[in-house]
Amino acid sequence: MRLSQILFVTLRDDPAEAEIPSHKLLVRAGYIRRVGSGMYVYLPFMWRVLQKVSQIIRDEMNATGAQECLLTQLQPAELWQESGRWDTYTKAEGIMFALDDRQGRQLGLGPTHEEVITTVARDMIRSYRQLPVNLYQIQTKFRDEIRPRFGLMRGREFIMKDAYSFHTHADSLKQTYEAMHDAYCQILTRCGLEFRAVQADSGAIGGSGSQEFMVLAAAGEDEVLYTEDGQYAANVEKAVSLPPDAEVLKSFNQYEKLETPNTPTIASLSEFLGCAPSQIVKNVLYQVVYDNGMTVLVLISIRGDQDVNDTKLYNELTKVAADFEATTVIALDVPDVEAQQKWAAKPLPLGYINPGLEDDYIQPDLEHVSPKFLRMVDPTAVDLQQFVTGSNDPGFHVVGANWGAEFELPKLVVDVRTAIAGDRATHDPSQPLQTARGIEIGHIFQLGTKYSEQMGATFTDEDGKNKPLVMGCYGVGVSRLAQSAVEQSYDDNGIIWPVPIAPYHAIVVVPNINDADQMAVAETLYADLNAAGVETLLDDRKERAGVKFKDAELVGIPFRVVTGRSLKEGKVEVVKRASGESEEMAIADVVDTIKGWVDAALG
Ligand code: ATP
Ligand code: MG
Repeated sequence: MRLSQILFVTLRDDPAEAEIPSHKLLVRAGYIRRVGSGMYVYLPFMWRVLQKVSQIIRDEMNATGAQECLLTQLQPAELWQESGRWDTYTKAEGIMFALDDRQGRQLGLGPTHEEVITTVARDMIRSYRQLPVNLYQIQTKFRDEIRPRFGLMRGREFIMKDAYSFHTHADSLKQTYEAMHDAYCQILTRCGLEFRAVQADSGAIGGSGSQEFMVLAAAGEDEVLYTEDGQYAANVEKAVSLPPDAEVLKSFNQYEKLETPNTPTIASLSEFLGCAPSQIVKNVLYQVVYDNGMTVLVLISIRGDQDVNDTKLYNELTKVAADFEATTVIALDVPDVEAQQKWAAKPLPLGYINPGLEDDYIQPDLEHVSPKFLRMVDPTAVDLQQFVTGSNDPGFHVVGANWGAEFELPKLVVDVRTAIAGDRATHDPSQPLQTARGIEIGHIFQLGTKYSEQMGATFTDEDGKNKPLVMGCYGVGVSRLAQSAVEQSYDDNGIIWPVPIAPYHAIVVVPNINDADQMAVAETLYADLNAAGVETLLDDRKERAGVKFKDAELVGIPFRVVTGRSLKEGKVEVVKRASGESEEMAIADVVDTIKGWVDAALG
């Protein structure tokens, strides 16, 4: 491509909409343009990058024996009603764009494709002889994200590779799951990314085991906890650890109520009493709304120095949904003043609550509110003795309290604690957890029979019995992956693409297009490089040399050839974008040398 003949626009200034480096650079260098919230146009250079990423993914998927297909983006609501996800996705999370067609039938725009593929499997798979199979597609997904941001990182329209596998039993699923794990490692390695596979929460998709692939970068929205020995890595949403031992800085041998003015926080209370935060039982109030409209007030007791993990809590509340004749959680929040007014019978002793907070704080006869607190306790609080906690009387706390004496231990003992950096690892307490930021670019799940059971997708096994298909699903954010490569690789002057996914490998820059010698050598190199399979641009624009050099750096093409001053000696300047190394090279050597570099990088 000749830059003089294509749409090539770079910006000197950072776009106002962009917060993180990769987003700024992709806009400035002319790769993407925003047309609306979470909607980006992939301009020609970006499209080349995305196609390269897609091709790497395709190669690795095909190598596992998976087959490519293309599913419909329009999805009938009935399929999602069968799986039980229509309400969660359109109302609760509200992540799914829903619409009515001209006949008034409800449709959704695909945020993911479990329902569609399961219907296909239900229709087509009859016998164990057809299994296992694995189908994948690379396609645009739609999600009405609450906070679209960071360019392609969290779009409302983005490209995903999603694969779905079907099996007779869990062992076969495990095999494919492992093959997909290995394929994902290959994909990320080939794209030149530094990453980590971590244990993950399975979220609304459901199922048992799952792993996320995190590209490590400071701008990552996820936190990863891991150990140096490489034995443990998990998303903080899922991570477990051994908490620090509880400390006793002051003993409270006697149960009593003390005046503790202005101590609504753990820090203020421990300072006032001279005790350790880990001597306090903290009681946190949450409000959960289930899919049947039921609101339940949840009171969680946890050790004062620890925090509740919303994801773990969400999962525990899902497990007890049936107790409230519900199936899923629609919303989970700490109720604010306005929310409290809807159910509180009297002002709550916020900051001074204890585990025995009476149920009469809830108005008794509200139709959609459970009249009792759902009480839970984290194991860290169970172990405490002679502890400090609230008195349900603002300005006062009790000390020297014990479970089974002053307070009844809640029946639901559940781990809802957030693991943090510095905690000891469960597999080896001598290993402290370390923290890193990550961008989730892939997620693989062992779904099991959740969808096949809900949707009646069965097969006949060797023993003649009808059984639900065992499923796995495997996603990669293709557009997010491409942007994370930039987030991991840039400098003050612009993008530094890893060679395998760079839009072009080389750029020939002509400092002065009016110089016939420069143009002649550049034209020859441009043609010969392309002929040799080195994807090459020619900067033959009527621009100053300085502008051209700046643009070449900004756009991040790995190798730059400049037909400049040393032309007289039969040489050109060759510059490596990543290291900035530059050398004067005999014109005759250029094509072979750059071709060698490109081949080496492609592996
Ligand atoms: P996140 O927690 O970041 O919202 P997710 O758990 O919703 O991701 P999945 O449903 O597992 O993601 O989708 C598979 C992959 O698609 C993710 O690993 C991610 O790389 C990508 N992805 C998800 N949402 C977006 C988005 N809004 N924009 C771009 N890529 C996305
Ligand atoms: Mg999401």
